[in-house]
Amino acid sequence: MPIDLHTHSTASDGTEAPAVVVARAGQAGVDTVGLTDHDTTLGWAEAATAASEHGVTLVPGIEVSCSRGRQSIHLLAYLPDPTHPDLTSELVRARTSRDTRLERMVQRMADDGIPVTLDAVRAQVEEGATAGRPHIADALVAEGVVAHRDEAFARWLGNDSPYYVTHYAPDPVRAVEVVRAAGGVPVVAHPWSGTRGRVVSDALVEEMVHAGLAGLEVHHRDHDGDAVLHLTELAAAMGLLVTGSSDYHGNGKRNRIGEHTTAPAVLEAIEEQATGTAVVRP
Ligand code: AMP
Ligand code: FE
Ligand code: FE
Ligand code: ZN
Repeated sequence: MPIDLHTHSTASDGTEAPAVVVARAGQAGVDTVGLTDHDTTLGWAEAATAASEHGVTLVPGIEVSCSRGRQSIHLLAYLPDPTHPDLTSELVRARTSRDTRLERMVQRMADDGIPVTLDAVRAQVEEGATAGRPHIADALVAEGVVAHRDEAFARWLGNDSPYYVTHYAPDPVRAVEVVRAAGGVPVVAHPWSGTRGRVVSDALVEEMVHAGLAGLEVHHRDHDGDAVLHLTELAAAMGLLVTGSSDYHGNGKRNRIGEHTTAPAVLEAIEEQATGTAVVRP
């Protein structure tokens, strides 16, 4: 009964429609899938319909962008009320800021002679979807400038690139409070996926625990053995749930759906804590 609680669709920077992500989960033998697009619940309805059709259980979620100083932190929010005003206003603010940030990044790149236009980038973003750097990469792939998203990130789109522009995102402690207020269950996504020195510190995790953090995504492709060991111990010390997920992005990333999974008892605990939205069972 594999449970994969972190995937992306064309509602943000995945390359497959929500219904296709759910179908892929079913084909891969994944019993329960979490759809967690960046800063949006846009894909939930389509995924719920597809879940019934494919006999897959759906856990509606969001990967909420957060930032503190120059550090970017991702917070998974499971089963929040998608209409909660504090939550929706944070998400709208982040998505709006992502749009202007995309314009500024494309402008900087174009000014420097990289063959990319705002129209070409916008053409890669589905109506209403959350825009991100992967869409700039997709425009460059479509124009034949690079072969794959990875190449675009390596050359121009990384956090250390001169073209990188930040966007509004709530402080992670605020985000935990808002997700809980919306009846959701907050779990830090890939806490140690950053380069050394940029991982989510134990001190920040502790601050987030005091605000209501429920768990850590320990099992993830970006975590090596040391990361898994450290985060497992940290979760135990702080009384946090431990999840594992693929962070599937269709063909936008190498991550295979179901490559890391979450224990059934952990999903039960998430469901018990949630009051915002129900799990969709076929
Ligand atoms: P943004 O949300 O606009 O800051 O862009 C970050 C997103 O880019 C992450 O959620 C990843 O999905 C994606 N990403 C980061 N690095 C890479 C990479 N090397 N190849 C493909 N996608 C990437
Ligand atoms: Fe992503
Ligand atoms: Fe993430
Ligand atoms: Zn993700």
